[in-house]
Amino acid sequence: MKADRPEALPIAGGTDVMVELNFDRRRPEAVLDLTRVPELTEWSQTDGWLRVGAGVTYSRIIAELGDRLPGLAAASRTVGSPQIRNRGTVGGNLGTASPAGDALPPLLAAQAEIEVASTAGSRRIPMYEFCLGPKQVALRADELIAAFWVRPASGPQQFAKVGARNAMVIAVASFALELDPVRRTVGTGIGSAGPTPLAASEAQRFLEEALAEGDRWATRAHLPAAVGERFGRLVAGAAQPIDDIRGTAEYRRHALDVMARRTLAWAWAEFRGEQL
Ligand SMILES: Cc1cc2nc3c(=O)[nH]c(=O)nc-3n(C[C@H](O)[C@H](O)[C@H](O)COP(=O)(O)OP(=O)(O)OC[C@H]3O[C@@H](n4cnc5c(N)ncnc54)[C@H](O)[C@@H]3O)c2cc1C
Repeated sequence: MKADRPEALPIAGGTDVMVELNFDRRRPEAVLDLTRVPELTEWSQTDGWLRVGAGVTYSRIIAELGDRLPGLAAASRTVGSPQIRNRGTVGGNLGTASPAGDALPPLLAAQAEIEVASTAGSRRIPMYEFCLGPKQVALRADELIAAFWVRPASGPQQFAKVGARNAMVIAVASFALELDPVRRTVGTGIGSAGPTPLAASEAQRFLEEALAEGDRWATRAHLPAAVGERFGRLVAGAAQPIDDIRGTAEYRRHALDVMARRTLAWAWAEFRGEQL
């Protein structure tokens, strides 16, 4: 159907699409109801990868995948209200590609891949290449998002979000962190502080080196405060924030510095088996 009518607007949970229609920002000629495609609501695990259908809702991510994808589950818990989490999908968050989309930083931190499909076949796009700009994605007109692929967490994953209030709030800035003790890598995702979700590559490299020093991955030794402080500064420096109605660029950088330090402290405490 998408090949026949590439201009048709896909609708999954409708929590973004219906807002656009209600405010008359969009009048699509045709709408493609993806809730009639049951395969999109399935997830499975094979060869060390989770394949999660684009139509899996936030509520199901929390309930069914919270242990395997704790970072994405933590982000999902902050999305909207229970009603929005029951309808809204990660596929829809990817389709909207708002820089403030809460599912996007954890997917970036976990180096997820997005499976897109058309009548010509399917392909997997690394998350860091999927978002091209605000509300722009690397999807061809005849393609749909089928699923995302991600490895189940092998270590701690954390997510933090700052907004004007505690619930039902669009992120002023957000940050996702993944520590992978098996591959000995660090993943990051900055939200709402750039045209797309951003990885803080220099911060990742710095922390990987700091954790390799004295084999902290194995000893699980205390991390000096200076490591967290430098990590926070590097994350803040990697952001490309702007001043807008929700916050200033300066505030966003400050918030990222704090969130990066905090998520690292939480993640390392979890890794060391400390009570949080
Ligand atoms: C009250 C309220 C609160 C909200 N709070 C948050 C929040 O806290 N955090 C947050 O990130 N978002 C929030 N949102 C936005 C929204 O809920 C999310 O972006 C959600 O993930 C959208 O999913 P959906 O399934 O409803 O998408 P839809 O509205 O159905 O679709 C969204 C976009 O993606 C496209 N699309 C959907 N599925 C596919 C697919 N499989 N292939 C290709 N394109 C597709 C659609 O064409 C559309 O452009 C909120 C929205 C509302 C109304």
